[in-house]
Amino acid sequence: MTTTLGRLACQRNSFLKELSTTVVSCVRAAKGPSYHVVCQDSVLFPEGGGQPGDLGTLKLQDKVFPVTKTFTANEKCVLETLHEFKAGDQVLMTVDWPRRHDHMQQHSAQHLISAIAENLFKLDTTTWSLGAARCNVEFNSTALTPSQLEELEFAVNEAIAAARPVSVHYKDDTSSVRIVVIDQLDKNPCCGTHVEHLGQLQAVKFLYSEVARGCTRVWFVAGNRVFKEFSAMFERERIMTKLWSCRPEEHAERLQKVLQAQSSAAKEQKVLRLELAALLAKQLQQTSSGYAILHREDADLPFLQSIAAAYNDLRSGKVLVLTSGDKKSGEGAVVISGPEAFVNENAKQIVNLLDGKGGGLKGLFQGKVNKLGNLDAVVAHLDSLKL
Ligand SMILES: [Zn+2]
Repeated sequence: MTTTLGRLACQRNSFLKELSTTVVSCVRAAKGPSYHVVCQDSVLFPEGGGQPGDLGTLKLQDKVFPVTKTFTANEKCVLETLHEFKAGDQVLMTVDWPRRHDHMQQHSAQHLISAIAENLFKLDTTTWSLGAARCNVEFNSTALTPSQLEELEFAVNEAIAAARPVSVHYKDDTSSVRIVVIDQLDKNPCCGTHVEHLGQLQAVKFLYSEVARGCTRVWFVAGNRVFKEFSAMFERERIMTKLWSCRPEEHAERLQKVLQAQSSAAKEQKVLRLELAALLAKQLQQTSSGYAILHREDADLPFLQSIAAAYNDLRSGKVLVLTSGDKKSGEGAVVISGPEAFVNENAKQIVNLLDGKGGGLKGLFQGKVNKLGNLDAVVAHLDSLKL
């Protein structure tokens, strides 16, 4: 015999943390290495009502086996483990309490928010979601104003301060339909686990709201999550204060100034790079040989392209080979420009000498190379062509 869903030990007493019970069945999961265990009763809550299933352990004699998932299947509460239990095994079932308590705080907070939203503004809750870090509740209206949200949050926290009792009722002794009641505020059928009174929620903080699919989604945290969220935000603020060397109130203004300065520096850099490319092109044009070659360790491909473009503007007709990158690692970029016929015939061979690959059109070839150390071989090759 197994206990019916709705009347599981965790649903009769949500603050129960462990339970001695008997394994009724254990079967191999259809996929993967795990087993699906059904016990006479469960202190681990299977997912439902928007609340995720519990994690926990099953202890058999002196060995403890983790429960990696709890869910419902065929009207039974199923525990997933890696150990093969036998029917009749006496086990001690323990719930991962901090995780479950957090779920209870978020779930009861959702009931409370939905109830007050209905009472104050006639809003219906369309759905809700209990996330690993933040939760949201969705209302069937897009007309929720910031001041209404403020009023809602205030009323929610007033009810918490009043520590109103939360209780679970069944229609009769055999019914599995649970009604979760928040004293004087709400009656709601729900299979989830809840706090005993609203004081156990400590606080609810709305984070922000967004309009989606004709609804308003309000993001919130409740209970210990309020403190965690505050601590994380404060730590980020402390780091920013140190980095920006200004008070938190001035962070945005400081960032705006830095972004503006960055944007004008980028514009200035663009102009300077073009000017430098033109000067280098002029220098290269003045070489006495029939070709020009230049290696710049710190240049990127766009800068090499700018030098080649400036060089072409000078219409010298001479072959130009530009490379950039670290000679030690050998990796870098190459740009070859010159008369179209020369580039078509020779560029690939030159790039091969540098163990590279590339392509191009109309007298301009570019690519990536792996052996910049072979630049001497390129010079020797260009000399041999007697340009
Ligand atoms: Zn619920």
